[in-house]
Amino acid sequence: MQQYDLIIIGGGPGGYECAAAAAARGRKVALVEKSQLGGTCLNRGCVPTKCLCAAAARIIDLSDDADFGIEVGPWSADFARARSRAEGVISELRCDIEAMLSNVDLYNAEARLGEGHTVIAGADFLKGHEIVIATGARPAPFPAPGGEYVIDSDDFLKLYSPAEAMAIVGGGVIGVEFASVLAAYGVKVTVLEYCAEILPGFDAEVAKRLRTALTRRGIKFITSAKVTGVDASHTVNYEAKGKSLTLECDMVVSAVGRRPVLPEGLDKAGVATDSRGFITVDETYCTSAPGIYAIGDVNGRCMLAHAASAQARIVAGISESMGVIPSVVFSTPECASVGAKVDDSPAYSAVKIPFAANAKAQAEGSAAGLLKLVYETDSRRIAGCQAVGAHAGELIALAAMAIDAGNTIETLAHHSVFAHPGISELIQQAAAAAK
Ligand code: NAD
Repeated sequence: MQQYDLIIIGGGPGGYECAAAAAARGRKVALVEKSQLGGTCLNRGCVPTKCLCAAAARIIDLSDDADFGIEVGPWSADFARARSRAEGVISELRCDIEAMLSNVDLYNAEARLGEGHTVIAGADFLKGHEIVIATGARPAPFPAPGGEYVIDSDDFLKLYSPAEAMAIVGGGVIGVEFASVLAAYGVKVTVLEYCAEILPGFDAEVAKRLRTALTRRGIKFITSAKVTGVDASHTVNYEAKGKSLTLECDMVVSAVGRRPVLPEGLDKAGVATDSRGFITVDETYCTSAPGIYAIGDVNGRCMLAHAASAQARIVAGISESMGVIPSVVFSTPECASVGAKVDDSPAYSAVKIPFAANAKAQAEGSAAGLLKLVYETDSRRIAGCQAVGAHAGELIALAAMAIDAGNTIETLAHHSVFAHPGISELIQQAAAAAK
């Protein structure tokens, strides 16, 4: 039996970050990973998707009709090559993770939890003073008959050749990012979304703006549509406006959320799950079993890689604020959100600024966009920010820092100097426009 201060199950952004941080603080750490280091984010999530999004953005730039005076000769876009390029990026980033874990004992096995803080990793028996479960999530099963004719996000990211006409079930973050990529490659894409607007949970006005921009790029959205089944010829059956309707296509992608991946032995270890199947944790990410923690997607608190990493650092003993977690949709254009939305409370006000009011956005030919800055009406403290447009994902990082720092509208408008012309000025322009 090998003894450790800390045993971590799962080598994604939660697991590897926790292992590296704990080892750097002098603890004896084991990390058990059944597949490859990097988890969903690196291997079949954020990183390959962002590689495809980057390729799509280049195609869209080439096809842009902004009058830059650039004549583009014949060109072609090869999806398979963009996908292959992602493998190189993944390998390089995996090397960085391996280097981070030089002081950690790695076990390449499927871990099971046992009694008394034990972990069985293949032929190895480990005992840990503390254990961290960071096993992530997997695509939710297709919620209607015909799941065998549908691919999920894992399958999508293994594709080297998309079909001519594709339906995406689910207009959440994954559905929207995939649709944005596919449309750039000329695929006829239809997104079917159950809710009245895409990106439920985002500010509805910003989500609508994004939908309009993506519709202009040729993507068809069918909202308030409940998909009820798919048949062998890839006909999607759905209900909308009280009618039963069908959509013909060549391939159907399911993007209807994710479910936790639970290691075997939770009952033996005394770890409880909630009604949705996620591991129950308290504010320190401790499970119902003292000394056993659960971080990242498996606890269902915030299913984002950077949230998992922040939770990891907290469990490793590093003080971290979890109050403000930005969320970015890497479509073209991008869409991003941090903190409160104006509809969250009557105590909030919002000020909006179009990207068209920004010199850099105009110069770049990306004037179609909107930034919304949310603040507490009485205290004038910044409470949130949502944006759709070029660089929206980078832009809201500034708002996140302002929220964390407790900045007010006046601080942003008058106490900070922003470089001109810069997209970041949009934050200051919005603050200056607040009544
Ligand atoms: P999601 O929950 O964001 O969206 C799923 C969508 O499917 C919802 O809008 C839902 O209304 C819809 N839906 C469900 N059943 C349906 C049906 N029968 N018919 C039509 N629509 C239906 O889930 P996701 O997009 O799969 O993403 C999973 C998780 O991964 C999310 O938590 C997301 O934040 C995270 N993620 C984040 C990023 C990012 O930050 N860039 C990228 C990918 C994934």
